[in-house]
Amino acid sequence: MGPPGAGKGSQSAKIVEHYVMPSISTGQMFRDAYSNNEPIGIEAMKFIKNGNLVSDDITNKIVALRLSKQDAEDGFLLDGYPRTVAQAIALDKMLDEMGTKLDAVINILSSNDVLFERMEQRRVCRTCGTTYHLRFKAPSVEGVCDKCGGELYQREDDSHESVMNRLMIYETKTKPLLDYYDKKGILFNVNGMQSFDKVYEDVELVLGEF
Ligand code: ADP
Ligand code: ADP
Ligand code: ZN
Repeated sequence: MGPPGAGKGSQSAKIVEHYVMPSISTGQMFRDAYSNNEPIGIEAMKFIKNGNLVSDDITNKIVALRLSKQDAEDGFLLDGYPRTVAQAIALDKMLDEMGTKLDAVINILSSNDVLFERMEQRRVCRTCGTTYHLRFKAPSVEGVCDKCGGELYQREDDSHESVMNRLMIYETKTKPLLDYYDKKGILFNVNGMQSFDKVYEDVELVLGEF
């Protein structure tokens, strides 16, 4: 968990390199569905582009479907889900039915100044979803993905207005979840305002316990 731009996607990529398991990013699933012209993606993008949340109903459904796939049987990482208390309750129900539970919730902390800068400088590969930063994680060739050669683009919701809205929605809808998981005793805070590797070291300190 963490506000938009905190580094959830970047750390998820590092985590699943080490602990082999699927990384399930609702934002990335919506973006993929949109680029494949799927109705769910087109519907979701109406909300995403302005920085609003997609409905709990649609979001819970795509997560339930994803968790039912075989590769999630031995563990998984959720990135950007849940984002509302209603989603957290729905997730608890899904996990109950699967006979499993969350081991840990990692919350990446960051200041708004850092978040604004990161989202302004973020570029994403249209083909494989790999994320870059124009200064801190620049591609070797401008505009081209190092991994797959795909085209890099700036997300429509990384515009200044959308970012303002996303940060406000984070405060009102998502932040209350921290308390929800803290009460369960599974919330771990990590300082996201450090280098990629240093943040990951701190993440490892948490995950190493399990
Ligand atoms: P989130 O998934 O939380 O929105 P990302 O992982 O996409 O965040 O990161 C947002 C932007 O900030 C990206 O451009 C990414 O490359 C960059 N970034 C992420 N973590 C760091 C870090 N520790 N130091 C510098 N830049 C970072
Ligand atoms: P970021 O963390 O940088 O905002 P994400 O890729 O996680 O990026 O999410 C992008 C957008 O996708 C969100 O602003 C929201 O519109 C939508 N989205 C992603 N996850 C959810 C969710 N769990 N519930 C509702 N909307 C979501
Ligand atoms: Zn790529």
